[in-house]
Amino acid sequence: MTNPHDRALPRAVRLAMPLAQDVVEEVAKQHGVCIRPVPLKRLDTQTGQWEIVDVPCGSPMEAKCPPCAKRNRHLRMAQCREGWHLDEEPVITPDEPNDEQRWLVEFRADIQAQRDDADKAGADTAELDALIEGLDEEINNAGMRGNVLGRTAPKRTRSTKRRQDAPDLPKRTMTNTTLGRTFQAPDGKTYRPSLFVTLTLPSYGKVRDGVPLDPETYDYQRAARDALHFSKLIDRFVQNLRRVAGYDVQYFATVEPQKRLAPHLHMAIRGTLPRAEIKQIAAATYHQVWWPQADKVVFDGEHLPIWQDGAGYLDPATGEVLPTWDQALDQLDADDDAEPLHVIRFGDQVDVKGVLSGTPDADQCIRYLSKYLTKSLGQSLDGGQAQREHAARFIDALRYEPCSPTCANWLRYGIQPKNAKAGMTPGRCRSKAHKPEHLGYAGRRVLVSRKWSNKTLAEHKQDRRTWVLEALGQTGEPIDPHRYVWRPLPAGDANVPPLSVRLLRSVRERQRWRAHMAQLEAQAQGQDLSATEQTGRAA
Ligand SMILES: [Zn+2]
Ligand SMILES: [Zn+2]
Repeated sequence: MTNPHDRALPRAVRLAMPLAQDVVEEVAKQHGVCIRPVPLKRLDTQTGQWEIVDVPCGSPMEAKCPPCAKRNRHLRMAQCREGWHLDEEPVITPDEPNDEQRWLVEFRADIQAQRDDADKAGADTAELDALIEGLDEEINNAGMRGNVLGRTAPKRTRSTKRRQDAPDLPKRTMTNTTLGRTFQAPDGKTYRPSLFVTLTLPSYGKVRDGVPLDPETYDYQRAARDALHFSKLIDRFVQNLRRVAGYDVQYFATVEPQKRLAPHLHMAIRGTLPRAEIKQIAAATYHQVWWPQADKVVFDGEHLPIWQDGAGYLDPATGEVLPTWDQALDQLDADDDAEPLHVIRFGDQVDVKGVLSGTPDADQCIRYLSKYLTKSLGQSLDGGQAQREHAARFIDALRYEPCSPTCANWLRYGIQPKNAKAGMTPGRCRSKAHKPEHLGYAGRRVLVSRKWSNKTLAEHKQDRRTWVLEALGQTGEPIDPHRYVWRPLPAGDANVPPLSVRLLRSVRERQRWRAHMAQLEAQAQGQDLSATEQTGRAA
């Protein structure tokens, strides 16, 4: 394959090549083909042949290229529509692991082995740890529940006075249903109303057009901590909602950024509750973060803890070993006067809207729910200079906030992070939460309860394929899930053809598939016609 850096090529050809790459990418986009495919090795156990196969970037949840993001958004919309006004109880059956899940688990095992080797060799494992974390998420998202390793550490029990109890909210007796109430109109028609709820975080200071009027007094620290712990607050809201509703409330929710950079939540809820109750639940919901203090800076600048093998991180001046994460938590538990590091609540702005199934209103809400799904939190905002400066200050505030128990920033506050290892530097945590595109929120963008539509996104994808085939009078052949064995390929593997070649191949496949579908469609219509003719003749 020609290489643009090959000096033997004429200059004009060399200059033209990046352009060609752009064109190929453009063509791929037009055909809805993934432009960041991941090459994998695949063994066909029926033929014993290994081959290199491209899979679309990002598994169903987190696409990295625009065509995949667009496709996923449409799948999400289908999923949202399907569950919202469900009128029959979904039946939950555990699924056979499919190809993707199998591959994810195998891949995770490989990465785990690499990580353990790296750890043994004293190398930095942060990147691999992050990858494993991401894979666990993907595995869950792919429809397998729980952690592949099972629970690794026993859950800490905290003194009862710190239990985050349901506040004083009305409580209905729990009924074993996921469906909301229906209402009968005098004309006999049944209505199945559902809710569309928007929940927002509190004010951190006055803003105009998303930008603080006074950056000096705007509470960036609170904004940062709220964003970091937002997903916990959502969990609490759902718990409280179910208690009050008295049935197993199902939801489809998306987390999206506001102009002021705070995450907020849009939630389609199956069934309905009085508006006032939703507002009451939102007002009463809170989450306490029982972490050690992170306000008093102990180590800073050049004065940083030192790593010693076998001992952990030491105070550079005294040589004293810093408290470990578990010790710090024990200390916190023992202290009756301790306060949580942070308490997060929703703001006053709660929007509740009743929606009837099948109405244009419902469609509009679904579009609204998925509006920003093709973009990351930070990307959705394209304000001017003032907003960029606001974003920079926000990212700055996030820089030294501990994002999780394993965050390197704990060293700044005199505590060894959980699973501490050599090479950790406060302010350099590589977790998603600190990055500009995530704005403190590293959780999932789409939150779907288990009994929403009774299907995972992968199943919705399969559904769509089945639907197309059925519409054409064909049925999909079941694929033997045990047929293929997948393996990752090392980066830069010489057997992988250049990207443009692979993209063009995918485009060709897509074209072939389209042509085939068109042909099937024409055939099906032809059959319909002859069927009509025959009926006509018989009559
Ligand atoms: Zn892609
Ligand atoms: Zn961090």
